[in-house]
Amino acid sequence: MAKRIAIIDRMKCHPRECGNFLCTKLCPVNSTGAECIKTNEIAKKALIDEFLCTGCGICTKRCPFNAIDIINLPESLKQEPIHRYGENMFELFSLPTPLFGQVTGILGRNGIGKSTALKILAKQIQPNLGDWKTTPDFKEVIAYFKGTEMQGFLERLQKDEISLSYKPQQVDLIPKQFQGTVRELLQKVGKEQCLKEVVEQLQLIDFMDTPIAHVSGGELQKVAIAATVLRGANLFLFDEPTSYLDIKQRINISKFIRSLANEKTAVVVIEHDLIILDYMTDLLNIMYGQEGAYGIVSGLKSTREGINAFLEGYLREENVRFRGSHIKFERTQDKHLGIPKPLISWAKLSKKLGNFQLTAEAGLLNRNEIVGILGENGIGKTSFIKMLAGLIEPDTGDIGQKVKVSYKPQYLETDSDVLVLEFVTEAVNKYAIQLIRPLEIEKMFTKKLKELSGGELQRVSIVKCLSQDAELFLLDEPSAYLDVEQRLLVSKVIRNLADERNVTVLVVDHDLMFLDYLSDRLIVFQGIPARQGTLKGPFKMEEGMNLFLSELGITLRRDLNSKRPRINKPGSVKDREQRQENKWYYS
Ligand code: SF4
Ligand code: SF4
Repeated sequence: MAKRIAIIDRMKCHPRECGNFLCTKLCPVNSTGAECIKTNEIAKKALIDEFLCTGCGICTKRCPFNAIDIINLPESLKQEPIHRYGENMFELFSLPTPLFGQVTGILGRNGIGKSTALKILAKQIQPNLGDWKTTPDFKEVIAYFKGTEMQGFLERLQKDEISLSYKPQQVDLIPKQFQGTVRELLQKVGKEQCLKEVVEQLQLIDFMDTPIAHVSGGELQKVAIAATVLRGANLFLFDEPTSYLDIKQRINISKFIRSLANEKTAVVVIEHDLIILDYMTDLLNIMYGQEGAYGIVSGLKSTREGINAFLEGYLREENVRFRGSHIKFERTQDKHLGIPKPLISWAKLSKKLGNFQLTAEAGLLNRNEIVGILGENGIGKTSFIKMLAGLIEPDTGDIGQKVKVSYKPQYLETDSDVLVLEFVTEAVNKYAIQLIRPLEIEKMFTKKLKELSGGELQRVSIVKCLSQDAELFLLDEPSAYLDVEQRLLVSKVIRNLADERNVTVLVVDHDLMFLDYLSDRLIVFQGIPARQGTLKGPFKMEEGMNLFLSELGITLRRDLNSKRPRINKPGSVKDREQRQENKWYYS
């Protein structure tokens, strides 16, 4: 019989407000005199005895705060957990496998233990083999992996033959932990000679003397990667190393991370941008399970097969279907809308912002279309969006008729105590089916904004923006912190919004696959970051992609099975053919 686990979200459990431990009064096992649901008087939370629970589901349905989940683990799962955080808390099965000379990727949904797995490898969490009351001897942890590649790795870890360096996911926390310049931070962690090399490879020179508190998100990401490498190690762990970076920087970072792997060094990476994950890694562990409840790590696969299996939702070797449907990022035919109806147009624009000069060629946006915006960081994308939103005025040139604009900014910082339900009231009243349900916002209703994770805050902010009464929606980096499945859901929600409400959506993003799937047309920014930027377009997709990719110097092909875009190896037959035909974008 499949093992059953109960998960209680401590943050959502409010016994005083539900009628004094309501669930204890409703549980049929409790009514027989047994103590299936107990009350923890110290923590003032409910607790469920998983051995006594029959899985009737009454408590999950009746808890007014949706604090309880009762889950049957997959029948095929024979192993015990490698770690459980506590009673009725998240549990993790197995670990990803670092291999010397290789870059191993980890791919999976948010909230299923990817960062926990990295923290175990990084020795930040000591695995307890499912028994949270004791700390088992490390020999028992090694025995868990007997006969696998992991056994040898853990034996070396125990003998201190492996030194680790770990880049955490949230680089935005660095300014809270360090005051000083980028140079001072990096000098603290690495030798001067290595520093010079890393600064050059990661292109940090322009902001070495900038205080950490003043660098942008993308710069902070590069500083965090530099610090990780400068610490020196033979196992590097990178948790989402490309968030906040533009595509050019993502490719540069991918090459840099790949170059770290050699016979004495292993690299493990968590990444949600599938084109970049494909480019950066040799092998892949897929993680699947249920958000906030449990996570299982698959066996190692080649990156190509692994990504295809993930999209398909089926692991052949393990014979496990972990998702009912395929994820398809394949573009449908270009939309034929009849005669386009213009919404807003602009004549040639210019704007000087400090030392930065922004120019925009004349262009227009139509109703019921989604226009993707591509370009490097610091090249004027956000400033252009702010001009359309009327937040800044151009120096020369005109933006035509005024339209109502709703804007989601790139950085979402909030220390607010406001409840999610309060924040998105308008969406709940008007767009429950279109926005709240597909983006799974109900689960967060009783949380405060300041308690949300990066991915949760992103979804809430998208919902807030899209629920406004506007004709033009501007979304700046909506894919940041979202996993692959959430990116697909967001794409569908945006598509439906444009169709149903006959509105226009502008999307700035650096995930090429996401933008390729979502957009009807493309705007391309060219120029030199922090000095000058020129807006061109909107173009038809193929034309815009060709312009952007030719400047970037990469060609894309489609994977034969999944049809997803993949970067061609520079100099490969396909790469040379496509360059010759000037087809940088697969057709
Ligand atoms: Fe009340 Fe729900 Fe907590 Fe049970 S889990 S005590 S019903 S809030
Ligand atoms: Fe009790 Fe389990 Fe039923 Fe909940 S699911 S009411 S804990 S038996």
